[in-house]
Amino acid sequence: MESKKRIYIGLLIVSLTAVTILIPLILFLLRQNTQFSKVMLIIIATILGGLFLLLGLGILAIIIMIVRSKTIPSLDNITKLANELLFPLTLVIGKVLGIKSEKIRSSYIAVNNYLVKSKHIILNGERVMILLPHCLQNNECPHKITMDINNCKQCGKCCVSDLVKLSQKYSAIIKVATGGTLARKLIKECRPSGVIAVACERDLSMGIQDSGALPVFGVLNCRPNGPCFNTSVDIDKVEQALIMICKGG
Ligand code: SF4
Repeated sequence: MESKKRIYIGLLIVSLTAVTILIPLILFLLRQNTQFSKVMLIIIATILGGLFLLLGLGILAIIIMIVRSKTIPSLDNITKLANELLFPLTLVIGKVLGIKSEKIRSSYIAVNNYLVKSKHIILNGERVMILLPHCLQNNECPHKITMDINNCKQCGKCCVSDLVKLSQKYSAIIKVATGGTLARKLIKECRPSGVIAVACERDLSMGIQDSGALPVFGVLNCRPNGPCFNTSVDIDKVEQALIMICKGG
């Protein structure tokens, strides 16, 4: 397993261990409260134990899927649940261990991309949406590409022109979002079956968490001028993602 993915998988296991330690502690504290009957304690212990088993199975499934490079469709929901519940905890534990949140988010995106890839989905270009952040546009550009990306005059001053050409080559939908709310709205309107999202670690990890069953492949943007200003993206990486989703490559 690549070291990039190892950070997130390692933190998932540490998070599950932390949850395991918390269970007897919670039960002990509840026992101090006389209002809690034995029956209530048994119910709470059963729920917590069941949750622990589910999360453990979810982490195991993620590891097996990565090792086999193949998804296990029946375990998709459990892996999603493990990611959703434990990802925030991995950030907290990572902070305690001195691991930068950017590194953890990047590792989470790598794991997510691997899981999307291992689904071996093949979609028509029309069913794929390329979702871009507004900061890719040159800050001096007067054209409103958030309303309609076809307003881009393809002058070549920023990578938007190349991305528009790429979307035309694969007949993919291409949209620009100024934030999570607009991104959600665009997805709701266009109803794609797969998304290739370009953004920073924070926005991508939040978007992936938000995506439910929709496969979202994340491509990190480059930020030579600092965050959210005249950013760029490796066009080859976006094309590789398109080839993977449209041709199963
Ligand atoms: S390529 Fe398009 S979006 Fe970028 S600066 Fe030129 S016209 Fe504006």
